[in-house]
Amino acid sequence: MKAEVIAIGSELTDGAKLDTNTQWLSQQLTDLGVTVHFHTTVADDLQENVDVLRTAVDRADIILVTGGLGPTLDDLTRQAMAELMDVDLELHAPSLNTIRKMFESRNREMPQRNEVQAMFPHGSEPLTNPVGTAPGIWMEVPRVGARPPACIAAMPGVPSEMHRMFEKQVKPRLPVSAKVIRRARLNCFGLGESHTEQILGDLTARGNDPEVGITASEATITLRITARGDNEQQCEDKIRTASETARRLLGHYIFGTEDEDLQHVAINLLTASGQTLATVESGTGGLLSHRLTEVPDFEKCYTGGLILPTESSQQRELEISATLFQEHDSISEAIAAELARRCRERLSTSFAIAITSDRGRAALTDPSMPAAYVAVASADDVRTLPVHRIGNWTMHRSRTVKTALNLLRLELLGVSLDDVRKG
Ligand code: AMP
Ligand code: MG
Repeated sequence: MKAEVIAIGSELTDGAKLDTNTQWLSQQLTDLGVTVHFHTTVADDLQENVDVLRTAVDRADIILVTGGLGPTLDDLTRQAMAELMDVDLELHAPSLNTIRKMFESRNREMPQRNEVQAMFPHGSEPLTNPVGTAPGIWMEVPRVGARPPACIAAMPGVPSEMHRMFEKQVKPRLPVSAKVIRRARLNCFGLGESHTEQILGDLTARGNDPEVGITASEATITLRITARGDNEQQCEDKIRTASETARRLLGHYIFGTEDEDLQHVAINLLTASGQTLATVESGTGGLLSHRLTEVPDFEKCYTGGLILPTESSQQRELEISATLFQEHDSISEAIAAELARRCRERLSTSFAIAITSDRGRAALTDPSMPAAYVAVASADDVRTLPVHRIGNWTMHRSRTVKTALNLLRLELLGVSLDDVRKG
């Protein structure tokens, strides 16, 4: 079963508007176990719309169309569908009635032009739209030979109207199998994508059930597990087995599941053990503090953060000695460690994280030199890690913050620094 999504509108092809509907519809189809093979975006042009539909009917079994159902002259989806089938448009009286009532309920007279929204290609079926004026169109297109008809569902372009119509009207009509699909995500930090794949071995082989895919975003590696089964339990069992294998192989590199990020895990571990945290940042614009304060109930353990972007502010606020700066680069292990130590003392917390990173230097220096250092101070010691620059500045900053949070997480879990550095 192949599917195609067609987005219609010149505002999409000329770049004025981002086509978000195609992504949403594709996600819905994927969740139903239908593979989307084609995305087509086409301008408001009748003949081109007909051509696109004809191509789709030939290469896909399920075709979802979004846009072009409005009352204006540039909305041509219904005409294109009628031409595809070589049939006329017919008035559907109940739909006209509904559209009239919709205007009445808003105390407005229905403009003549809206009548066109009650016209449907002969042989098609209207899809009601309780939240807007444009009904959708369901049409089955016969194909030569033994091929089953292709199904076309045309929906409005307004995202909220389309979402509802898909859920209520289109989904129940789709010829999809009764197989259940469930997904799960495991999030990892500290290893590269290919290294992770190498460690996981056969688990990520193509054609596996469950399927395990790997994606990377700003150094967070996500294992995406997709299980298919006759029922939910079967899927859950498959996901559990695959997750256990992944956890056995990757150990502490896996930090969370689903939307869980490193700051959530760090805050949860601190709260659960009744410990507290302070932060000091240079070169990150407060990103570490920003992420920590996004976590619900962060106040239980996160006492405060200092943003000290310059040597002089670091000397002034944390009494870092001028001699230390003479002896060491401001982006150095020694400065990061001292910042963490002083910050912990000053805010009287169990732990302090320090980041020292510099935009200009990171962009200019030789790539073998660390572009940032992170440090975590506890009552007993200070752990530090260098961060090399990979990618643009935004990515580097995000990765630096994640490296710092991960260093704290591993300290809280009792992982030795040698094991951390292996990654
Ligand atoms: P239409 O159904 O073509 O009259 O579209 C109505 C409105 O929905 C347009 O003005 C756009 O703002 C929006 N829209 C249409 N197509 C899309 C799309 N593919 N993604 C996001 N928004 C869209
Ligand atoms: Mg349009």
